[in-house]
Amino acid sequence: MHNLAIIGSGPAGYTAGIYASRASLEPVLFEGLESGGQLMLTTDVENYPGFDSGVMGPDLMQIFKKQAEKFGTQIKTETVNKIEKIDGGFKLETGKGSYEFKSVIISSGASAIWLDVKGEKELQGHGVSSCATCDGFFFKEKKVIVVGGGDSAMEEALFLTKFATKVYIVHRRDSFRASKIMQDRVLENEKIEVLWSKEVAEIHGKEAVNSVSLKDTGDGSSSKLTIDGVFVAIGHTPNVVFLDGLVDLDEKGYIKTGFTTDTSTSVPGVFAAGDVADSVYRQAVTAAGTGCQAAIDAERWLEH
Ligand code: NAP
Repeated sequence: MHNLAIIGSGPAGYTAGIYASRASLEPVLFEGLESGGQLMLTTDVENYPGFDSGVMGPDLMQIFKKQAEKFGTQIKTETVNKIEKIDGGFKLETGKGSYEFKSVIISSGASAIWLDVKGEKELQGHGVSSCATCDGFFFKEKKVIVVGGGDSAMEEALFLTKFATKVYIVHRRDSFRASKIMQDRVLENEKIEVLWSKEVAEIHGKEAVNSVSLKDTGDGSSSKLTIDGVFVAIGHTPNVVFLDGLVDLDEKGYIKTGFTTDTSTSVPGVFAAGDVADSVYRQAVTAAGTGCQAAIDAERWLEH
């Protein structure tokens, strides 16, 4: 039985790997389906401390990975499909085999929900984003749209007004589901225009976004809007399906932590770090921070 499994390869997982391997726990990290996590979908990252000239998201994750491997984290290109409690630990099953561990750090992240329209995937990192905090800065003096009608969309739109000259909110209905206070802020902001009852049908552009096709959800009519960026804010889903009820989740479906230590879950020996347990901050640096905490928590738990 190995000491520690780390499930997920975003900033939280790799940071847990760095700390746990330096503590001689010989952790095994399962990369999962979206190796490198959400940062693989961004281009320049300018708010990760230590990189004063910025760094490309995929390059940053490559550095994280190298650093984790350097201290002995064993990285497996496998996806954990199942995890169950066994005597003295946990059994993990991947498509390639099964493994036993005394403790587990879950850092499987969250995935942005995307629109699934033509042009969206091709232009991710080139004008299509799911994170205004990460990418808003690149839209100085530009025109952007934010898709969605919840608090995230309101927050993203308001944040983007700091950079963009014009922010359109494209919402599929004629009323928002966001909280009243956020709606009021949006509706009072002169830079924001709401395009009610509209859906994005296609995103256009070769090297960067240049326009979108919109469809009216009422009469079905089509229109085109010239813009430079598309921010999709229709929600995130924490990647917890494979856990199949092993640990308690909060009302939004994220892993509940803070039982005995900050990263402890409802099951002793199972810790959670990064976006899978965080619906609030969702930043690479906060994920890395909780990854470090989880490794320290796991080390102390194993010691006792
Ligand atoms: P959300 O509340 O689920 O809202 C998602 C929005 O996206 C809805 O308006 C929905 O439209 C729209 N949508 C969903 N699928 C779509 C699709 N395929 N095409 C077009 N539009 C689509 O998600 P969220 O805004 O990310 O918020 C998640 C939770 O975090 C909420 O509880 C929210 O209150 C909270 N949050 C709070 C804050 C804050 O307080 N500052 C900030 C961010 C998030 P419909 O309305 O038509 O369903």
